[in-house]
Amino acid sequence: KPTVAIVGRPNVGKSTIFNRIVGERISIVEDVAGVTRDRIYSSADWLSHEFNLIDTGGIDIGDEPFLEQIRAQAEIAIDEADVIVFLVNGREGVTDADEQVAKILYKTKKPVVLAVNKVDNPDMKEMIYDFYALGFGDPYPISGSHGLGLGDLLDKVAESFPETEEEIIEDDVIRFSLIGRPNVGKSSLVNAFLGEDRVIVSEVAGTTRDAIDTSYVHDGQKYKIIDTAGMRKKGKVYENTEKYSVLRALKAIDRSDVVLIVINGEEGIREQDKRIAGYAEEAGKGVLIVVNKWDAVVKDDKTMNKFTTDIRENFLFLDYAPIAFVSAKTKQRVQSLFEKVTKISENHALRIQSSVLNEVVEDAVARNPAPTSKGRRLRIYYATQVAVKPPTFVVFVNEPELMHFSYERFLQNRLRESFGFEGTPIRLITRARS
Ligand code: GDP
Repeated sequence: KPTVAIVGRPNVGKSTIFNRIVGERISIVEDVAGVTRDRIYSSADWLSHEFNLIDTGGIDIGDEPFLEQIRAQAEIAIDEADVIVFLVNGREGVTDADEQVAKILYKTKKPVVLAVNKVDNPDMKEMIYDFYALGFGDPYPISGSHGLGLGDLLDKVAESFPETEEEIIEDDVIRFSLIGRPNVGKSSLVNAFLGEDRVIVSEVAGTTRDAIDTSYVHDGQKYKIIDTAGMRKKGKVYENTEKYSVLRALKAIDRSDVVLIVINGEEGIREQDKRIAGYAEEAGKGVLIVVNKWDAVVKDDKTMNKFTTDIRENFLFLDYAPIAFVSAKTKQRVQSLFEKVTKISENHALRIQSSVLNEVVEDAVARNPAPTSKGRRLRIYYATQVAVKPPTFVVFVNEPELMHFSYERFLQNRLRESFGFEGTPIRLITRARS
């Protein structure tokens, strides 16, 4: 999937445009997790094109001076995006800060589409002419608050997508990533997997050297560790900011089948762990929760249970994810992670025969009759699996409005009890039978 980044000085309307393009992607996960994620990253689509969208304005760069901040944001856009939307404010004309952004963007060979925001009605179109001076060709007039001009803008963006950026995905390779806050031991775990020091581990947070995918074979199975540890060379101003490392993590999650959420056993669960876990669920990835540094935890016979309860309470929406307690240092249980990852990836790609599926659904309805509302009862005609990764089922019914969230949960649980699906989310879609 190509990535599109929105850049521009503050107050030109970046997050408004971001939300307009992303649209209403309601997330039950966010509610359940109790975290309001101020979003800087989301998947989006336009016509038949799917892409990821980044609002670089949401990445605040510590207490760097104003100009440094917008410069860093423009650099992030250049590093991370395939196409850059350069946003300016039509009501204010070209400002010094716009020119600063432009200066950075001149350095990239990536396509830059110039969008002039706050052009709220067609009479205001003249406002765009000033912006030819920035040197990015035709400016596109848009209005974030009125939702105008976005179609033309997105047509242009989609036209600029690189030809064959699509990653070639080999079916027999299990792709996974290790995600977690700095210093939880991601690189150490990768080292422990590989049994050699191919990844440099550092004592200082965030100094692991430039990370790339690592391919290897274990017990005849091919694996690919995506964007090892999600970190790169230190040096640029923005690379230590939390939002930026989250952004890198989200990109790695997108390319994975299975995500290992690594938690530091010594420190317990933090807010950021929950956010990232929520994203992994939302992206429909297999999830394994790994509690590392278990060697350093002072334990008695109740510690593991306590920790498990804590995880279950904090990651309500990940009740299907297995938990592994490991130590990268002593290598305790590290090898067992492969087995788990492999199993999760199988579940993630599992296909259920329609006949078997419908037996389970019929049996579920017999045990717990479908809900009624205003004298009408939900009738389930049949179910079918329409996708894998994650397993996705369509249930055909008389009136989809009658399907209740709790009943959907019940059906999902029945599917889990019947087919396993450990470690993978499953999706249920209710449709009216035509
Ligand atoms: P990353 O930032 O998540 O990649 O974390 P690192 O792999 O760089 O590890 C951070 C620090 O934690 C290093 O000092 C490691 O030696 C230490 N560490 C990693 N795993 C373990 C473990 O299982 N037990 C203990 N005691 N220390 C660990």
